Amino acid sequence: MTGSAARRTRTTKIVATVGPASWDRQTLERLLLAGVNIVRINAAHNPIDERLELVRTIRAAAQATGQHVGILQDLAGPKPRTGPLPDGESVTLRQGELIQLTTGDDPLAPDRISIDDPDLVAALRPGQRVLMADGLIELIVVAREGTGATARVVRGGRLRGKQGVTVPGAPAPPRTLTPAEAADIAFAAEHGLEYLGVSFVTAPGDITMVRDELRRRGGRAAIVAKIERPEALRAIHDVTQVADAVMVARGDLGVQLAPEEVPIAQKRIIAVARTHGKPVIIATQMLESMTTQPIPTRAETSDVANAVIDGVDAVMLSAETATGRYPVEAVAMMDRIARAVEAEFPCGPGPGALRPDTIASTIARTASDIARRSPLVDLIAVVTRSGFSALEVARERPSVPVVAVTNSQFVANQLGLVWGVTPLVMAFPDDTEALISQAGAALIAAGHARPGMHALFVGSLIVYHEPGHTDVLHLRRL
Ligand code: PGA
Ligand code: MN
Repeated sequence: MTGSAARRTRTTKIVATVGPASWDRQTLERLLLAGVNIVRINAAHNPIDERLELVRTIRAAAQATGQHVGILQDLAGPKPRTGPLPDGESVTLRQGELIQLTTGDDPLAPDRISIDDPDLVAALRPGQRVLMADGLIELIVVAREGTGATARVVRGGRLRGKQGVTVPGAPAPPRTLTPAEAADIAFAAEHGLEYLGVSFVTAPGDITMVRDELRRRGGRAAIVAKIERPEALRAIHDVTQVADAVMVARGDLGVQLAPEEVPIAQKRIIAVARTHGKPVIIATQMLESMTTQPIPTRAETSDVANAVIDGVDAVMLSAETATGRYPVEAVAMMDRIARAVEAEFPCGPGPGALRPDTIASTIARTASDIARRSPLVDLIAVVTRSGFSALEVARERPSVPVVAVTNSQFVANQLGLVWGVTPLVMAFPDDTEALISQAGAALIAAGHARPGMHALFVGSLIVYHEPGHTDVLHLRRL
């Protein structure tokens, strides 16, 4: 018997950022049912004293909907911002006007803008561009002025309070952990979050710094390197190698780079991530117009579709689900686009995998090859304690459904970020034959297979091995 048992599973995963538009229990449940695999909490916008409540609500929504959901918490990172303004107020900057840039957090005035990073202000030199509000506003520095600078408005607009400030090309100061980030890392460890995002990565050392602090606190989260600075792009191979996953953070990257350079960077990051076998997320503005409208633009639909065709692991929603008017519709739309495109453009193994020929990689690649060549194989069942074997198989982008049978809820949640992998949790017996037959029964019970189907079992099937071993390939009729 061949053919898929249930509705074809979506292979591209969906990450949704939560915020005021979506963090109530009911909306969260609707988001999960619409297809969210990973919920992102942005530490920059979620005060830590309100976060535990949010984490509990996400866990409860996952439980209630019977979904495996991982939580990604992004560390804020060093992002210089303008001074404040009361909510709803803005100052208008007009082209050609002169503006004073100062250090501190004075409320914004039309001719005077404070910036909360004294080092950035001190380093301003005539001729440098200063971008604000995601690059919408552009100034050019004309003179230094005491501890501040005078700048001319090149491209004006309305500026709200606490907007990001970027000086393209200015070298990044050495990355250190701010006290707020250390607290956010401790939070991730204490509450068992599955992923930790490192913003504004400049070098591989930034990742190890966060991971060391996380491990010191007993956390197991995997680390996502957010590629949003040119330094990270230049060191993309080394950063990817050290990280557990990478994010193409197009929002900030698009302020650092010229607009036309962003798609080029995106393609390059995807290729490098897939070569290293690390999950890759495409982030920011994928369905931006859905923050105010119930359907996306055709260009946005195409953007999501092209990411799917490129074989990325996940596509991400930010403002669409955090503050937009149509959070559930945005997820449903992403789900529809991904399913439609996947059916038409099956993903291949992609660029040559850059890895030594280990036992694990050999078995994973062979499993995928067998499934592709033999119509007998209905699915690949990866038995995994750490998730490692599932990642090894997923990077081959097999042509049949991949179910990761794991004894860890944490691993099941984490696999929400990985292309094509559906998790299935069960207790592992202490005997190899029992493990395989019980896994087979669980696959049928969960609707992933029907009796008579052929499952290719992969993974650490020999009991009493430490995790991280992929050592068996076993084809069985269920
Ligand atoms: P952010 O990261 O939403 O945390 O800023 C993503 C991006 O910059 O695109
Ligand atoms: Mn960013």
